[in-house]
Amino acid sequence: MGKGRYIKGRVLSSGFFFWICMIVNYVIDASAIINGYPLNKGDNFTVAEVICEIKDFKSKIRLDEAICDGKIQIVTPSDESIENLEKKLLKSGDGLRLSQPDKMVIALALDFKGKGKKVKVVTDDYTIQNELKINNIDYLGVLTEGIYDIYNWIKICYGCKKVYPQDYPFDDCEVCGSRVYKKRIKKNR
Ligand SMILES: [Zn+2]
Repeated sequence: MGKGRYIKGRVLSSGFFFWICMIVNYVIDASAIINGYPLNKGDNFTVAEVICEIKDFKSKIRLDEAICDGKIQIVTPSDESIENLEKKLLKSGDGLRLSQPDKMVIALALDFKGKGKKVKVVTDDYTIQNELKINNIDYLGVLTEGIYDIYNWIKICYGCKKVYPQDYPFDDCEVCGSRVYKKRIKKNR
């Protein structure tokens, strides 16, 4: 092998290493899928429990397609991360407000973080976001952070703060039954 090619190989491999370090693993929860997070890239992960939470037909089909196309991977969090999370939830008091799928999503994010990988959780769920903050894990809201430009308004539940898309047809929250109000959101882009 010539000297030139050797140098080129080194540059390439260090570039590759840099690229690996920069990859963000996106952990997607049910609210993100329901609220239309685009599943068109291959760096998405979720847990099996989330699939059961998706009830609306359109979201179910979109998720099924993404799974078949390998755009989203179903991963089981480690027992260690689940146990650690349960301990932390006792302190924060979020345990009762989080469903089992919610907990598994957070545990999966803890797994990525524990392995030194970059991770961002995509969720519009206020309680999940709160627990992620406590664990120093980055998150991203689909509706609140304007991933889609089309939303000028969102609907938020007075009770549990669940965020709904602007075309949510009901006046009350599907989770806790409280009233849902309209809120203007600024466009990010
Ligand atoms: Zn509610």
